Amino acid sequence: MFAGPAGSTHPSADVIVVGAGLSGLACAFRLARAGLQVEVLEAAARPGGVIGSRRRDGVLIESGPNSALDTSPLIGELLRDAGIGGERLDANRIADRRYILRGGKLIAMPLSPPALLRTPLFSWRTKLGLLREPFIARAPADAEESVADFVRRRLGDEFLDYAIEPFVAGIYAGDPELLSVKAAFPRLAALEQNHGSLIRGMIVGARERRKNAEKAKNTAKSFSFRAGMQTLTDALARGVGTERIRCGVHVDRVRRESDGLFTVEATTDSHRFARTARALVLAVPAYEAARLIAPLAPTAAAALEQIVYPPVASVVSAYRRGDVAHPLDGFGFLAPKKERPRVLGTLFSSSMFDGRAPADVVALTTFVGGLRNPELACEEPPQIAAIVRESLQAFIGATEPLWSEVTRWQRAIPQYAFGHLARIATIESAEQAFAGLFFCANYRGGVSVGDCIKSSHALAERVAMRLGQRVAA
Ligand SMILES: Cc1cc2nc3c(=O)[nH]c(=O)nc-3n(C[C@H](O)[C@H](O)[C@H](O)COP(=O)(O)OP(=O)(O)OC[C@H]3O[C@@H](n4cnc5c(N)ncnc54)[C@H](O)[C@@H]3O)c2cc1C
Repeated sequence: MFAGPAGSTHPSADVIVVGAGLSGLACAFRLARAGLQVEVLEAAARPGGVIGSRRRDGVLIESGPNSALDTSPLIGELLRDAGIGGERLDANRIADRRYILRGGKLIAMPLSPPALLRTPLFSWRTKLGLLREPFIARAPADAEESVADFVRRRLGDEFLDYAIEPFVAGIYAGDPELLSVKAAFPRLAALEQNHGSLIRGMIVGARERRKNAEKAKNTAKSFSFRAGMQTLTDALARGVGTERIRCGVHVDRVRRESDGLFTVEATTDSHRFARTARALVLAVPAYEAARLIAPLAPTAAAALEQIVYPPVASVVSAYRRGDVAHPLDGFGFLAPKKERPRVLGTLFSSSMFDGRAPADVVALTTFVGGLRNPELACEEPPQIAAIVRESLQAFIGATEPLWSEVTRWQRAIPQYAFGHLARIATIESAEQAFAGLFFCANYRGGVSVGDCIKSSHALAERVAMRLGQRVAA
């Protein structure tokens, strides 16, 4: 059914979605439910993008995200609509505890004002400095400031080094000196602009969110699924209709016809073909979107090309419980750059969620590389596994793993760096110039699973509106 003459302007679908990662699938799912004819073209052998879950010896191996944050009612609605509400698995309460490496030891991040006063993680100077925060002047509204400068200015160097820098490495595998605070942490920037203070803003913000059921990322619940995160993308793919998702199809070119339709040219192992639709959603990474639209919208392509994706390796290690000295009573640990570690951090995967490993085994997921040490993520898997083994021995007293598995992502996570908002504005201009063309991926609206779901929902509404259809809540 996909064969069709190249250059045909007869639409084969209402919408073609290129890319079946979470963003493309969540968007296609909403469009299909709105009654639109959707076709999804995916280069890889299976849908899901970076999301992938499988088991080895009873241990769950996640190749990408291990969990998501339930920050919006939209997420629960999507799970319900996809029929996987019952598969959801909430993180154990113990996962509220997050460790930070300091002086070679893991110290729990304080979660309450009394714990903040007692913690050895920050000096008294930093703790007392927080009292000054409400009185520090706002940055000019039009200023573009790095995350590091923003945090230094409001909370001090030590807070940057031992809270925000490792946190940024954990989310973006990035560097706070390079990320734009307005682009990467818009809520944080808005707290300062709207309330003049992060602390005051958090108090008022919590009250406002209670009214609209949205949750801040620091209070939202972590969740996954019994069989791992792939449950989500598999269910979305089923909801779109597996016959509507074609894998092993690499989209090579995109064209706009004189009648306003969009044609994509694609190749499989065995043949080339073209498909045409009334609307086109590019749900591929920025560097791929740049390549596809370069002939059509060179300015937007140039902007997309500037979005950097550092490499990251994700390493799942299985240990006998008795071979790890640390109680593993938490979410995991983050390793600040100041400590000169060779890993970004480790998730205590089998403590976070039940059923992640057999009773006498623990599963740990460690991330290596990022902007901090890109070269380490490009080493061969045995070298990466050795780095992780040595780090886990030093930080949590883990001896020899039963086994470890390395997944390398050459271009893992988009960096919302300086100029990101201007780049996104250029992409929006291309959407306006070429009505029916849309961009939907994690370089826009946030990188987290929850943000991708929210952005895809909003984008599906725009696509449906363009095609005269309504997307259900
Ligand atoms: C290692 C790692 C760990 C993470 N951990 C977490 C976490 O714990 N919690 C969290 O909330 N988020 C996490 N994230 C972030 C989150 O998982 C991603 O931002 C999100 O899944 C990205 O989805 P996407 O659809 O935008 O992109 P992708 O998953 O990259 O999907 C893009 C798809 O486009 C396809 N494609 C590309 N080019 C073409 C082409 N020319 N033709 C056809 N198809 C094409 C690709 O094959 C791919 O399937 C993590 C990300 C990584 C990499």
